[in-house]
Amino acid sequence: MPAVQHGLQWRTRLATYRDRAVVLRKLDYGEADRIFTLLTRTHGKVGAIAKGVRRPESKLGPSLELYGHVDVLLAKGRGDLDVVAQVQRMPGLRIAGDVEVMSHAALIAELAERVCEDRHPVDGVYELAVMALDELARETDPRRASAYFMMAALDLLGYAPQLAACATCDRPLTARPAAFSAEAGGFLCDQCALPSMSLVPLAAIKVLRLMAAGDLETYRRLKLDLALMSSIEGVLTTQLEHHLDRRLKSLAFLHQMRGV
Ligand SMILES: [Zn+2]
Repeated sequence: MPAVQHGLQWRTRLATYRDRAVVLRKLDYGEADRIFTLLTRTHGKVGAIAKGVRRPESKLGPSLELYGHVDVLLAKGRGDLDVVAQVQRMPGLRIAGDVEVMSHAALIAELAERVCEDRHPVDGVYELAVMALDELARETDPRRASAYFMMAALDLLGYAPQLAACATCDRPLTARPAAFSAEAGGFLCDQCALPSMSLVPLAAIKVLRLMAAGDLETYRRLKLDLALMSSIEGVLTTQLEHHLDRRLKSLAFLHQMRGV
């Protein structure tokens, strides 16, 4: 093979790469383009432009849905953005439906984005996002899926709450309702909790422990009523918002929607 041709092939191979990705964000750009934030399986978080994607005849358009799971061929761009060359939807359920489902998908996407830095793959975050969005598509209560993901994200960020021992004095917690303190990093025993603190029911603490253990199978089978779900969500969002320097936009929107 002539040297020139060989070199060309080598360059072409470097210039494109194929990966699986979750579509975290999209932004219209120019007349017909769109810029996507992709959470890829092996290349971390990637910004990519899809040229002409908003034109009706675009082959890329139908597959590139927000919160979709795709197989994508990307070409290395000159700047920060890569270019979407080909894309195909992965089999699986689609995230669609009412504003509440979409808002929970937005929360999962926003958190996934916060967990990983640009182009630095964080072990497990892609798989977790795929799993959480899949749960969201099949769940009747979208809060269950995003709550599970919040616990997983806290764990990946290194902010998993203390659930078995008092976060202040380290004494094992007894089987009773307990106060939660994001400042302390978990639940508090009777001696450390202030009388003014509200108590989280034991049932909620038990579900949180199950989530922290990653027992999705059992979690799926649990009956979680509205009050219990709210307690669980309350602990997770308090912990998240305490540790993230910015508030989560999607969480603020969910609260606003519920009139909380
Ligand atoms: Zn204590």
